[in-house]
Amino acid sequence: MKGVRLPRSSLIGVSLAVLLVRTSRRLDFARRGRRFCSTGRCLGNRSEPLLLVAGGGAAGIYASLRAKELAPHLNVLVIEKGKPLSKVRISGGGRCNVTNGNFLEKMVQICFWHSLKIYEIIFSLGLAGNYPRGNKELQGAYFNIHGPQDTMSWFSNHGVDLKIEEDGRVFPVSNNSSSIVDCLLGEAKKMGVQLQIGKVISNVSISYKGKFNLRIEKRTIDLVEDIEADFLLVATGSCQQGYKLAVQLGHSIVQPMPSIFTFKIEDNKLQSLSGITLPKVKAKLKLENICKNQPEYTQVGPMLITHWGLSGPVILRLSAWGARDLFLNEYKGFVYIDFIPEINVEDLKLILSQHREHMAKQKLSNSFPSKFGLVKRFWGYLLDREGLDGDEPWASLANKSLNSIALLLKQCSFKVIGKGQFKEEFVTSGGVPLSEITLSNMESRIWKNLFFAGEVLNVDGITGGFNFQNAWTGGYIAGTSIGELASTYLL
Ligand SMILES: Cc1cc2nc3c(=O)[nH]c(=O)nc-3n(C[C@H](O)[C@H](O)[C@H](O)COP(=O)(O)OP(=O)(O)OC[C@H]3O[C@@H](n4cnc5c(N)ncnc54)[C@H](O)[C@@H]3O)c2cc1C
Repeated sequence: MKGVRLPRSSLIGVSLAVLLVRTSRRLDFARRGRRFCSTGRCLGNRSEPLLLVAGGGAAGIYASLRAKELAPHLNVLVIEKGKPLSKVRISGGGRCNVTNGNFLEKMVQICFWHSLKIYEIIFSLGLAGNYPRGNKELQGAYFNIHGPQDTMSWFSNHGVDLKIEEDGRVFPVSNNSSSIVDCLLGEAKKMGVQLQIGKVISNVSISYKGKFNLRIEKRTIDLVEDIEADFLLVATGSCQQGYKLAVQLGHSIVQPMPSIFTFKIEDNKLQSLSGITLPKVKAKLKLENICKNQPEYTQVGPMLITHWGLSGPVILRLSAWGARDLFLNEYKGFVYIDFIPEINVEDLKLILSQHREHMAKQKLSNSFPSKFGLVKRFWGYLLDREGLDGDEPWASLANKSLNSIALLLKQCSFKVIGKGQFKEEFVTSGGVPLSEITLSNMESRIWKNLFFAGEVLNVDGITGGFNFQNAWTGGYIAGTSIGELASTYLL
């Protein structure tokens, strides 16, 4: 009963149930006139073990290459329901943000503050007591096995030149994601990884031999196949079908929910400011029913005003950290913006009062202190929010109003009424809990020879290449484990 950890009695039960289900399904398909094959005849030497990879995304393809590298005799079959590496192709505005050069530093921040995900990784590795010491422990953990430097080396060694941009994001020098896609797919072909596209893995069960029975469907031509695999890697990203497979294999799912989105704001006047970028603001997220003052709910960085609300890196980061709490609050809350974080409120008042003195005759709307680094349209918005007439001269500005402007610049509240549709960066939080996986080899704690990698797990990062790095790291570790196991595997 190789590789199965369930008691014998439950195995017999499972096998009988599987047999019954399979027989009735065959009859059902036969009745409906569907084509049915029993195994993947495409596969080469079936006297060798088979790794079936569910999902031809970053994690699935990377894992396949690694497994094949370590165990060239292993049959590796990737089943992809759509186009392979489609997210790699569209990410980073078509340039593919492969990873992040500042990864370690950022991961430390995430570990310090994040309640789930990467934090869980550290717990799983028993490093919780050490993590505040930072880099060293992290390097010893998950990301040290195959981190950003390793990813970059891998692509460089396979002919893709990469560059690190100022903010740490890594892209191919070509500025074209095709360089990454072509490299991975070319390598897969060269190494003999088989890729079947347009097919969905719709069901999985465990055979009495402890192998994986997978049902593969090609809906366009009504084809159904059954295949038995020795190793299974679930790398289905955030697709519901992938979660279903995990559940069929006894895993639980932390409720998936979007992470990384823009904020829809209730303020009609904001529309007139659409397109304005503020290079450095401090944004603080406040949610009802969530009293805890979480440090990660304050972020500093560029912000963009859109016609429906607020966007830009600072907002996307807030959305990533607050994904779960925002979901629980039905995406309702407040965001407070400090437009000039470098200058304290008292200094702002002073600057405004000096400006009033020097520009006494100027119209309020025509002039404002240049130190603020604001654009005229935005200044007009602030005056409007304060109910001030922009045609009035600066000399008429009462101290009370002057103080209010200073306060507004430091703590301008915006009512969040929903989640925007930002399609550039979209990641799902939730998935298979890390507590059900052994992170040092990415194997399931429920079934032997079952592996998970990438976004199907309850891991998500902030924008900037961290999510892809999770896919590369998880894929690499899973591929290594499978490759090593396959080298000594007896069918
Ligand atoms: C628009 C966009 C932009 C992004 N930009 C960035 C970025 O700049 N930087 C960054 O780090 N991250 C970015 N991300 C996130 C990043 O793309 C994902 O985190 C990463 O692709 C996850 O890799 P994965 O292999 O786990 O999953 P995926 O890339 O989603 O791959 C999973 C694959 O499995 C297939 N699949 C699912 N179920 C089945 C099934 N039952 N049978 C067969 N096939 C199946 C899917 O079709 C899919 O191709 C972006 C995401 C989006 C949507």
